[in-house]
Amino acid sequence: MLECQNQDKNNVIGLGIGVPGFVPLKGDRIPQLVNMGLENVPLKFKLEQKFNAHVLVENDANAAAWGEHKAGASQGTRDNLLITLGTGVGSGVIVNEAIHRGNLGLTGEIGHILVRPIDGKLCNCGKVGCLETECSGVAIESKAKALYDEHQLTAREVFNRADNGDETAKRVIQEASYYLAWGISHALHVLEFEVVVLGGGISRGGNLLLQPVRAYLEDFMGDCPEFPTEKVLVSKLGNKVALHGLYYLIYEKIN
Ligand SMILES: [Zn+2]
Repeated sequence: MLECQNQDKNNVIGLGIGVPGFVPLKGDRIPQLVNMGLENVPLKFKLEQKFNAHVLVENDANAAAWGEHKAGASQGTRDNLLITLGTGVGSGVIVNEAIHRGNLGLTGEIGHILVRPIDGKLCNCGKVGCLETECSGVAIESKAKALYDEHQLTAREVFNRADNGDETAKRVIQEASYYLAWGISHALHVLEFEVVVLGGGISRGGNLLLQPVRAYLEDFMGDCPEFPTEKVLVSKLGNKVALHGLYYLIYEKIN
């Protein structure tokens, strides 16, 4: 990256890195990065040594939530939630205009809320019926592959087919939206967010995703009709949102 920008590493004053895993509040090591096959990684220490600069390591969903909060769809709100819908499902929680991390740093693991514990699918975490097994990109692809009996189908293609009126594709998205709305309603009942932002590759489905999610959410929030379901939005910053968040986080750390 530095070569592309014709920059020397000595000009780097701060480095922010988002990781797809738990970032403990104490200690410098990342216990496990499942998708990268890494364990017990002293990431911050290694990067500080290499670049001699401030290094900030943040959970990627937290970084994305902060980016959206500072410059995207949830800008100007105090309490908001960003749900990342990609290979897996994660979230970043903003409370009182700050990232809420919890006691250990585990806040935001919305992908592992149980929504189908009786007849759901086995999740990577070992439980059955996690939200992630119903509305991640992998989950949508896997359902569609079974229904169409096609092995090369992507989630993007499912949305394209739904956009062209394909009823099977619409059904797959409806079902994913149902469980996603269920997960969102749990989060809203615990913390009354002003805005919920959907990010990650699946959020590019736009209204094909938003409309059913809002409709189901209206049912699930029937006891709290004050929550305006149009406050569920898609990301404004797209796949660069975590970069925006990391930029603001490292800038705030240095200044
Ligand atoms: Zn799980």
